[in-house]
Amino acid sequence: MKINACLAMCGLAMLLAACNTATPTAQPAAAKPNPFPGAGLSLDELKSRYQHMYPARRLKPKKWPNGARVAVALSFDMDNASGTLARGTPGSEPMTRGQYGAVDGLPRILRVLDKQNVPASFFIPAVAAALNPEMIPAIQSKKRHEIGIHGWIHENLVEMNDEAKEQDLLNKSIDLLTKAMGKKPVGYRAPSWAMSTFTMKQVRDAGFLYDSSLMASDDAYEIALDGKPTGVVELPIERILDDAPYFGAANGSLPAPDLVDKIYRDEFDVAYEEGGLYVLTMHPFFTGHRSRALWLDKLISYMKTKPGVWFATHEDVARYVKSAE
Ligand SMILES: [Zn+2]
Repeated sequence: MKINACLAMCGLAMLLAACNTATPTAQPAAAKPNPFPGAGLSLDELKSRYQHMYPARRLKPKKWPNGARVAVALSFDMDNASGTLARGTPGSEPMTRGQYGAVDGLPRILRVLDKQNVPASFFIPAVAAALNPEMIPAIQSKKRHEIGIHGWIHENLVEMNDEAKEQDLLNKSIDLLTKAMGKKPVGYRAPSWAMSTFTMKQVRDAGFLYDSSLMASDDAYEIALDGKPTGVVELPIERILDDAPYFGAANGSLPAPDLVDKIYRDEFDVAYEEGGLYVLTMHPFFTGHRSRALWLDKLISYMKTKPGVWFATHEDVARYVKSAE
């Protein structure tokens, strides 16, 4: 019995072993993706990718209007719930946080800008403008702000990676905002600052004066596309000067506004010393909250304590640096 039992068990073990070894031969393991595809490219191929969008020339005027020492361009991206709708994200929290941008955020931001009497640029996804049609008239009623394009539904163009679809959404966005504004917008900001390899060509061909999605310099510059100047002015942005990384966490986590304020003031102080350009990106569904709007008010007051600060829309800055050449 012992021997028979042993044989039976050995037979079972051999059968199991055979089953185990059969699996990999029937379905070979998928090849691992190459983590360094760039290492296999030639220097010419790398140069082509690196310089797909590159500064053609720096646009730093010797002086700003009225002898100002620094240009301050405040911008607000009115994404609201458009990105949430684009991804079909379930749940009331991201949807209602987005709604806050239109319901309380924008009106409070406009009150701060009124109090300080400074202009700003608002970049609005077309869907966000359609879902809260009161936003554009509210901004325009102030007579000193600018409105620019910010995608159709805050789609991520790099993830979408579809030239025809991207062109269609850009055309639709321009049409919708042009009708809502009564004039064609001149400024473009890619949703999430994410440009695909198709975006800049489409932006240039659509005749935009400027883009504000890239970060190759502190100064404005003309964008070259595949080595050829586009005539499009870049007003560079940075994550350092963006409220989303600091305030974007869903739980409203620290840092406190005054810690963020220190970074923004230091950036401003150096821009002032260098005679440069200061572009700050905010979102009314983040910075439109009470404590943060209070901080924004204080930040603008701080800037005003220094002589020679030119507060301008992105459009005004782009026109000035282009004409000052
Ligand atoms: Zn955005």
